[in-house]
Amino acid sequence: MRLVRNIRYISLAKIWNLCRLQAFYRKAKHGNFSTEVPPPSFASYEPTNICNLSCEMCPSGKGQLKRPRGTADMKLYRKFILENRKTLTNIILHFQGEPLMCQQLGETIAFARQNRIHTMFSTNGQLLAQNIDLIRNARPDHIIVSLDGLTDETYTKYRVGGKVQNVFDGLEKLSQLPAKERPYTELQFLVFSHNEHEIHELKNLKKKYRIDKITLKSAQIYENSQVDFLPENQKFSRYAVTENGNFQLKKGLKSQCKRLIFGTVVCFDGRVVPCCFDKDADHELGNIASQSLHKIRNSKKYIDFVNKVFSNRNEISICNNCSE
Ligand code: SF4
Repeated sequence: MRLVRNIRYISLAKIWNLCRLQAFYRKAKHGNFSTEVPPPSFASYEPTNICNLSCEMCPSGKGQLKRPRGTADMKLYRKFILENRKTLTNIILHFQGEPLMCQQLGETIAFARQNRIHTMFSTNGQLLAQNIDLIRNARPDHIIVSLDGLTDETYTKYRVGGKVQNVFDGLEKLSQLPAKERPYTELQFLVFSHNEHEIHELKNLKKKYRIDKITLKSAQIYENSQVDFLPENQKFSRYAVTENGNFQLKKGLKSQCKRLIFGTVVCFDGRVVPCCFDKDADHELGNIASQSLHKIRNSKKYIDFVNKVFSNRNEISICNNCSE
């Protein structure tokens, strides 16, 4: 069913571009950057970096973002879509901030869909119920709803300022939409020490709210003081904790990155950054307000960054705490 729904987003040009990306990636792994960088097949575009919650470990919610706050300019967004529509398969309408705080979210979804680009966004679910008409009219293809606790006590340990009932209300409204209007619904559960005992209850929610997929996700932490949030079950933690309380990624870092080649991230103000781990745009590669994405991805700045990731990823701080 999902495949049938999404077939309209596939084209020969997009398949050919994927082949070019794969070829570029293969060469980059051997240090060869001699060919043109193809356009990305997916992009994250930030509708807004403003948020309604103050989640622990989220630089945006905690007010620690150094970049200005704002909302996407629709003219710039439309230009981006029109320039990339032939090769872009998927647009992810979130980065930092809560997408449903953006008044033009429905417009961004509808415009991408009109241009045959698959659309998705992730939400904390607090404003979902009141925006159900937006969902019904704009018809996003895929929604990720974050629910990291099943009671107010467990939920608000991470989602500071939220109410778990608001998320349940949103899921209820989504489940009541007719099948044709209902997006593919994914429930994301960040596993922490304070909620890991609730995992077994998620299957009941899946049935109750007609959820298509449940994803158990490991959390990203930034400092030793956050180690207590990590779950006991090692399966759900990306870090190993040493005896003195330090943490490090379990997975060894390989100097390569598929995400950087196949995707791109655009901040609300048009700044292009390598990936969603660069929350503060510390590695700005260009701005689509003054250059095309093609120019940015073929600039010295971009190639130098790719070269660094593919030769010595350890030297880049965001890449050191990345599970890619
Ligand atoms: S942090 Fe570095 S390795 Fe991770 S996705 Fe971004 S560029 Fe790639």
